[in-house]
Amino acid sequence: MSKEPTEKKDGTLGKILSYMKPFRVMLIAIVVLSLLGSILNVIVPIFTKNIVNLTSEGIVSGFDLDAIWRNVLLTVAALLGAFLCNLIQSLITPALAQRTAQRMRSDLNDKSNRIPLNYFDTTPEGETLSTMTNDIDTLSTSFSSTLPSLVTAIATLLGCIVVMLITNWVLTIVTIVASILGLLITSKVLSISSPFFAKNQALLAELNSTVNEDIKGILVIKSFNAEKEAMESFDKTNTDLYESTWKSQMATSLLTPIALFSNNLSYIMVCIVGAYLVFSGSEQIGTVIAFISYASLFATPISTISQSSGQIQPALAAGDRIFAMLEQPEMSDDGTKSIDLSSIKGAVQFDHVQFGYVPNHIIVHDFSLNVKPGQKVAIVGPTGAGKSTLINLLTRFYEVNGGDISIDGTSIYDMPRETLHSLISIVLQETWTFAGSIRDNIVYSKEGVTDEQLQQVVSSCGLDSFVRQCPAGLDTILGEEADISAGQKQLITIARAMIDDAPILILDEATSSVDTRTEAIISAAIDRLLEGRTSFVVAHRLSTIRNADMIIVLKDGDVLETGTHDELMAKEGFYADLYMSQFEQH
Ligand code: ADP
Repeated sequence: MSKEPTEKKDGTLGKILSYMKPFRVMLIAIVVLSLLGSILNVIVPIFTKNIVNLTSEGIVSGFDLDAIWRNVLLTVAALLGAFLCNLIQSLITPALAQRTAQRMRSDLNDKSNRIPLNYFDTTPEGETLSTMTNDIDTLSTSFSSTLPSLVTAIATLLGCIVVMLITNWVLTIVTIVASILGLLITSKVLSISSPFFAKNQALLAELNSTVNEDIKGILVIKSFNAEKEAMESFDKTNTDLYESTWKSQMATSLLTPIALFSNNLSYIMVCIVGAYLVFSGSEQIGTVIAFISYASLFATPISTISQSSGQIQPALAAGDRIFAMLEQPEMSDDGTKSIDLSSIKGAVQFDHVQFGYVPNHIIVHDFSLNVKPGQKVAIVGPTGAGKSTLINLLTRFYEVNGGDISIDGTSIYDMPRETLHSLISIVLQETWTFAGSIRDNIVYSKEGVTDEQLQQVVSSCGLDSFVRQCPAGLDTILGEEADISAGQKQLITIARAMIDDAPILILDEATSSVDTRTEAIISAAIDRLLEGRTSFVVAHRLSTIRNADMIIVLKDGDVLETGTHDELMAKEGFYADLYMSQFEQH
C-alpha cells in the first residue's frame, strides 16, 4: 500500500520530463550550466588550500610568488565562470518553465474540447478550472525554483565527495558522517510534513469549486434562504485548508533551523579533527581550511535537497492532476465521409437507438423516428424523461450504445464531427452570451457574414430597437457598455442560430418568464427561425407546439405516444392529460 504513491510520483516526474521534450535543448542547457557552475565552485577550495600552503611554506623557505598568483587567478577565474553559468542558467529556466506552462494550458484547453461531455458531468467545474490555472502555476513555479538548485546541489555534493576523498580521507569521513546525521534528522521532519501538501492542493481545488458554485448559484442560494448551508460548507473547507496549510508550513519552517544545525555540526567536527591532524604533523593547515569550506559547501546542498522536496511534493501532486486530465480518454474518432453540405435537405432518422449515460444503466431502450426535411418535431415529457438525451445523441455530444442516427441517409458517425455540427444549430434554454460586441455574439463562428445579412437577421429577430438604443450599435460590448435582459439574450441566441443557417435546428424552449410583449417577440422570432428547417423543439409549454408535424411523448427514456396534437388529444392518453393539466393551470 505505502509503495503506491511513490510509484505514482515517479511516473509523474517521468511524464513531466518527457512532456518537455520539445524544449530539450533548453533543459539540457540548464542541466549542463548548473553542473559546470557547481564544479567550478567545488574546485575553488583547492586553490585556497594551495595559496595557504604556499604561503605557510614560504615563511620558512621563501615565497613562490608566481605559484601564489597563479592560484589567485585560478580562484578568480573559477568564481567568475561559476557566476556566468548561474546567470545564463537563471535566464533560461523561467523561459523553459513558462513555455512548458503555456503548452500545458493550450493542450488542456484542446483536450477539454475532445473529452466526452460526461467527464464534466462527474468533475466539478472548479476542479477543472483549478487544474488549468493553479496546478500549472504551481508546477511551473516550483519547477523554475527547484530544477537548477537540485542539479547544482547534486553536482556539488558529488563533486565535494570526489575532491575531498582525493585530499584527505579522514576529514572526508568526518564531514560526511556529520552531514548525514543532519540529513537523517531533516528527512524525519519531512516525512511528517509531506502528506499535508497533497491535502493542501486538494482542499484548494475544493474551495475553488465551492466558491465557483456559490457565485454561479447566488440567486438560487438567496432565494432558497440557503445562505447558512452555503456558508457552513464554505467554512468547513476553509477551516480544513487553514489547518492543513498551517501544519505543512509549520513543518517546512522546522526544516530550515534543523538543516542549519547540521551544517554547523560538520563544521565543528572538521575543526576539531583537523586541528588534531595539523598538530600531529600529518596534514597541512591549508587542507584543513579547504575542508572548512567543504563542510559548508557539502551541507548547503543537503539542506537544498530537503527544502526542494517540500516544493516538489505539491508540484508532483499538481502534475498528477494535470496528466490525469491530459490522459482522459477522448471522444471516439471522427468519421471521414465528406458530404456536400449545400445539398443536405434535413431528413433525420433514429434507427433502433439504445443509450445509457453509464454503461449498466440503459435509459433509451429502442428509439426509432423518421423525420422528413422541414418537419417540426416536438419532444415532450416530464423532467427526466430523456428529452435532452435525444438532443445530446443527435448532436453526438454522447454516443449511442446501439442503433444508428442518420441525416439524409448518412450516419452521423460516418461524417466528421465538424460537418455534423455545421448541419445543426442549437438554441438552448440556458442562453449563452460572452463578453464581446453584439455583432461578435451573433456572428460567432460563422464566416463571411455580410452587413446586410446581419441587419436582416437583427430586424427579423426583433432586436433592432435594442441595437438602436445601444451606444455603439452592433459594436456595443455586452455587459460592459449595455445591460442585457433575459429576453434580449434569448433573441441574440436566436439571431445566432439564424445566421448559422443550418438545415436542422434544435430548440430547447425557454421557460424563463419574460413579459408578454417580449414573449410575443421571441415566439415570432422563433417561428421565423423554424421556417424551412427540420426542427426538434423541446417543449415545456404544450400550447406552443400545437402546430408541430409530430409530437413525441417520452417517459423514462422511451416513447409513450406519437402523433399530431389532434391525434394525441383524440387518444386521450398521457399527452391529453398533460395538455389538459397545463391548460387548466392557465
Ligand atoms: P429531460 O431533458 O427530459 O428532463 P434528460 O434527458 O436530461 O431528461 O434525462 C434523462 C435521464 O438521464 C434522467 O434519468 C437523468 O437523470 C439522466 N441523465 C441526464 N443527464 C445525465 C448525465 N450527464 N449523466 C448521467 N445521467 C444523466
